[in-house]
Amino acid sequence: MSGNGHLNRTTSIAEFIDEQRWQGSFYTGRWQTSDIRLPVMEPATGQELASVGIADAATVAQAAERARHSQQRWATTPFDQRAAVLREAARLLQQEAESFIEWNIRECGAARFKAQFELGACVEQLNMAAAMPMQANGEVFPSSLPGRTNIWRRVPMGVVAVISPWNFPLLLSLRSIAPALALGNAVLLKPSEFSSVTGGLLLARLLELAGVPEGVFQVLPGLAETGSALVSDPNVKMIAFTGSTAVGRRIAQTCGTLLKRCSLELGGNNALIVTPDADLDAASSSGAWGSFLHQGQICMQAGRHIVHRSVAGAYAQKLQARADALACGNPFTEQVQMGPLINAQQRDRVHGLVQDALAHGATLATGGTYEQLFYRPTVLTGVTPDMPVFKQEIFGPVAPIVVYDDIEEALALVNDSEYGLAVAIHTANAMRGYEWAARIHSGMVHVNDQTVNNEFQVPFGGMGVSGYGGRYGGPANFDEFTERQWVSLVNDPIQYPF
Ligand code: NAD
Repeated sequence: MSGNGHLNRTTSIAEFIDEQRWQGSFYTGRWQTSDIRLPVMEPATGQELASVGIADAATVAQAAERARHSQQRWATTPFDQRAAVLREAARLLQQEAESFIEWNIRECGAARFKAQFELGACVEQLNMAAAMPMQANGEVFPSSLPGRTNIWRRVPMGVVAVISPWNFPLLLSLRSIAPALALGNAVLLKPSEFSSVTGGLLLARLLELAGVPEGVFQVLPGLAETGSALVSDPNVKMIAFTGSTAVGRRIAQTCGTLLKRCSLELGGNNALIVTPDADLDAASSSGAWGSFLHQGQICMQAGRHIVHRSVAGAYAQKLQARADALACGNPFTEQVQMGPLINAQQRDRVHGLVQDALAHGATLATGGTYEQLFYRPTVLTGVTPDMPVFKQEIFGPVAPIVVYDDIEEALALVNDSEYGLAVAIHTANAMRGYEWAARIHSGMVHVNDQTVNNEFQVPFGGMGVSGYGGRYGGPANFDEFTERQWVSLVNDPIQYPF
């Protein structure tokens, strides 16, 4: 292992990328090259774009130790200075937007509009976090003892490990990193192995240039072993994990044994209900957006369309027409709404679910075919609730339609899932939708909208196997990334009987 040390701080992010001096590196406050490398692939072409350095268990331990020391200084840095760093990060991100967008397109297969949206949301996220350090961080309580003052205040968790997925690599990393830093924590980021540059090394460079002190933010690319080393490291006091339910469960088990806080944002199998009186144009637009955006590779993807029998045929036709109008191709070289799936394993899983449904009596309204990693948007009718395509998280561009006759049946179908992330209801009576929402086991319910929603100022998160502890956004971030401490003070020491 050798050190690049500091790359020239005057180098812009665009120059930083072009020069590729970060190749084979990870970031510990200094740029270090690793003997073990992870290839960075472009799913649309199968081309290797670059490589990053893998942080092994020994590197993780050193990084966590360094972070523990650096965090103590960062937490006592005046709040306006911490806020200024985050504002500068937001400014730089906007200024250097094109570099981030291009990497998101090439490394993660994002359509340009998706990468642009994600970039904008990250700028908002950083600006919101910049307002956090100046807010009151406690309360004063009365005491039954004369002369005593009781203070309850927030203190940082210490070192927070953020472990992220690849589908929204910037946003799902920054939604934890930004508030955690704002509240005085140090952060160790392990990006997904499928987004090590977009959701990893680019963020390292951004926060380095914005002025985050050495050691307070570090980026440690790698596979599951790097993640596991972070989860069990004694210097890491909290895990903020976004990813699959299977991996979340494993992390929760380790954190349970270690009594370590973990915040889990996991998978989903999200329902979209269409009632007989719904506006079918609007409902099918929601259905298409909810199922096909980013090739369906979104935790909030509408994976279960639950449609009243009287409108199911018309809804399926409209959804099919919307699917057929979508262009699928290399988002870096073509103007398309849909890019590639992230890898062949994911494509084969999606195709397997579709094939299984067809073998068991479902009908293909459209799609169900692919070339390389480009999977056509797919609409399935005649689906039954027992089919895996309806019961499992799809994470691909597939819209299975199940019909219902009575709203009680629809609500029962929605709740017949271990997941509980997002639900959408299309109805002419929004108040009814609001009432039904109270009976739905889901962390988020949207009336007359689709399932994929995220606003940085609103607490976001799932129920059931979609996650626990995790509520990101707005006021929830204060609870998420701090601990509570009671401090009591008296001027004259209290005298006890013995
Ligand atoms: P994943 O669980 O395979 O990987 C997520 C991260 O965990 C990666 O960085 C990976 O390297 C790391 N990891 C893997 N094994 C680990 C281990 N044993 N210990 C520690 N870290 C480990 O998920 P993915 O394929 O990257 O993302 C897709 C999944 O994420 C889907 O299930 C999706 O629904 C979910 N997701 C949830 C949300 C949400 O907010 N609820 C958002 C996006 C994605």
